Amino acid sequence: MKKYDDIVVGSGISGLTMALILGMNGRKVLLLEKSPRIGGSVSRFYKRGIPFDTGFHFTGGLDRSGILHDILLVLGIRDLIQPIFLSEDKAHCFFFESENRLYEIPYGIENIKKKFKGYFPGEGSSIDRYFDKVRQVCAHTPSMNLRALDSSLQLHLEEDFLSLEDVLNGLTGNNVLKALLSGFAMCYGVMPKEISFANHSRMCLNLYESVARIKDGGDALIRAYETKFKNFDIEIQCNKYIANLEDIQNKRVGRFILNTGEEISAVNCIFTIHPREILKILPEQHLSKAFISRVSSFESSAGFFSVFAVLDKKYNDSDFDSTIVSIFPHTDVNLLLDPANTGASALVIMKSIEEERGKTYRTINTFEPSFFEHVEAWKDTKTGHRPQSYMDYKKERVEKIIGRIVNTFPKYKDRIKAVDSASVLTFRDYLNSPDGSAYGVKQKISQFNLLGKLPLRNLHAAGQSSVLPGIIGAMMSSFIVGRTILEKEKYNKFLNQNLCN
Ligand SMILES: Cc1cc2nc3c(=O)[nH]c(=O)nc-3n(C[C@H](O)[C@H](O)[C@H](O)COP(=O)(O)OP(=O)(O)OC[C@H]3O[C@@H](n4cnc5c(N)ncnc54)[C@H](O)[C@@H]3O)c2cc1C
Repeated sequence: MKKYDDIVVGSGISGLTMALILGMNGRKVLLLEKSPRIGGSVSRFYKRGIPFDTGFHFTGGLDRSGILHDILLVLGIRDLIQPIFLSEDKAHCFFFESENRLYEIPYGIENIKKKFKGYFPGEGSSIDRYFDKVRQVCAHTPSMNLRALDSSLQLHLEEDFLSLEDVLNGLTGNNVLKALLSGFAMCYGVMPKEISFANHSRMCLNLYESVARIKDGGDALIRAYETKFKNFDIEIQCNKYIANLEDIQNKRVGRFILNTGEEISAVNCIFTIHPREILKILPEQHLSKAFISRVSSFESSAGFFSVFAVLDKKYNDSDFDSTIVSIFPHTDVNLLLDPANTGASALVIMKSIEEERGKTYRTINTFEPSFFEHVEAWKDTKTGHRPQSYMDYKKERVEKIIGRIVNTFPKYKDRIKAVDSASVLTFRDYLNSPDGSAYGVKQKISQFNLLGKLPLRNLHAAGQSSVLPGIIGAMMSSFIVGRTILEKEKYNKFLNQNLCN
């Protein structure tokens, strides 16, 4: 029986981060991945030689004062990736079809405030108060700052128990302003009436401060982790998962049985997978009814229907730069994230220039909120073996989306080609998630997520459903759990040493 200090289950950005934190601290780590390759949502895929991103397109926090900059510095991979910052003046553009009006949102909080005050001249004090509140929440959240190690900041704030919608209603009656301030809900997939103002603020602050892509997307991140892994005792095994937990004594698991029949012993096992998948692995007789009911009651965040398109090679308009354009049919963001919405959808369009094997591609990835309910009829089918009715559903959605892109950018007419598309079922099957949601569980107000120690004491939970979604939230969850496993003193020394480098 092979022995490890730690088994990390799942090799998305959370699992990669967890394995590296533990490996860098002298532990012998096994990283288990169910898929044939590592990376989870951050890995790219290639169609006709063109690179497309699955679940990582842009991020905040990569500027020198940003949290992602610090995280990558600690992990020693900051210099192994190349950030590409989006245009400071119009990184995000929101187009409201009901108003027929485009709003260009810069980054840098002072720049955003100035721009908003220009768009909404009578709302200056609401705008100031909104950004003050966002800053205040983040300043009092320990997980937002790796440098605030021993601070006595509160874990839960008053704003953890107030919805985004309630706070915005208290600030302004302007529906367009409210929709613009809630627009980043597409980056966490929860309605303004369901997300807490605190979690909305934690998700948005980084994106308000800067917006960047990474050259070669998530594959560059994965390569950086692989490079670092070589220096430590970290073993990766793909196509493997835990089938059974055995020798459970004093609430500790003694043996981990893999799907291949191999038996492994480890001091700890950290799951960075969906909470419902964790529940399937834990033996029911060791769980309380309250625990089972809590985990089973987690709902899913929104998912996406995505089209991956490319512009004609001859199209080399110099104004094609990386931007994010969100088209909202109206200002009701709750409705746009409601699975029951049968009207027009939001559409997020991400443009990027990709270099691959000496060729340049102008790619367009789009995201339309979508839910398991939309594809339930085909839930028992697997990718590559779906019926004609499903193909027809996808074809119709792709055609409509391409039509909307051309409406927004008329010059792309006859120049844009859909190369691939993905439904919530595609995401479910490729990412081994139970429901294909984009951000794991829905982060609802006052929800008690699955983070850290599980009912069996040498098992832990991390990942996007534990703290916050997005690559920053997923990585932060691994730092939080890493602190428990390494214990405070060793963890603090590790951070201090690497933050100073
Ligand atoms: C379409 C889409 C667009 C997105 N865009 C962005 C974006 O632009 N910016 C951003 O920051 N975030 C974005 N996100 C969210 C972001 O991708 C996630 O929050 C983050 O990558 C999740 O990381 P994770 O490690 O928690 O989980 P995952 O990436 O889901 O990794 C989990 C891994 O565990 C594996 N696994 C599952 N079950 C088992 C098992 N039983 N045993 C072993 N392995 C298992 C899976 O195969 C997978 O590799 C997007 C997500 C989607 C779907």
